[in-house]
Amino acid sequence: MKKDCIFCKIASGEFPADKIYEDEDVLAFYDIRPQAPKHILVIPKLHLDSPGEAKEEHDALMGKVMRIGADLAKREKIGDGFRFIFNSGENAGQTVFHIHLHVLGGRRMTWPPG
Ligand code: AMP
Ligand code: ZN
Repeated sequence: MKKDCIFCKIASGEFPADKIYEDEDVLAFYDIRPQAPKHILVIPKLHLDSPGEAKEEHDALMGKVMRIGADLAKREKIGDGFRFIFNSGENAGQTVFHIHLHVLGGRRMTWPPG
C-alpha cells in the first residue's frame, strides 16, 4: 500500500467506493465521474503507479485484471461492445497514479479517442 494513494485506500476499505467485485488480488468499482452509461474501474490491490511500471512478474495479475474486466462487462450487459483503457502518464490523461483499467460501455464509442 502506498501512502496517500486513493485507490490503495479504496482497496484497503479505508475509503468508500461503489464496489462491484472483489477477491484477494483485484477490486472493481464504479467510476465516480462516469464517461459512459457503464464505467467500471478494475484495479490490482497491489500498488503500481501506471502501466509503464508493470514488469514481467505482474503478467498474471494484469491478465487477471483484464479477464475480470471482461467478465464484469458481460455481467453489466455491455459484453457486446465495451472499451478497455489504461492511461499511462499525465500526457495520456492519467490522474490517479495507481494502475487501473477503465471498462466503458453502454453507448457507441468513437475512434480515434481524444
Ligand atoms: P485516469 O484519468 O485514467 O487516471 O482515471 C482516474 C479515474 O478515477 C477517473 O475516471 C476518475 O473519475 C476516477 N476516480 C477518482 N477518484 C475516484 C473515487 N474516489 N472513486 C471512484 N472513481 C474515482
Ligand atoms: Zn495505490
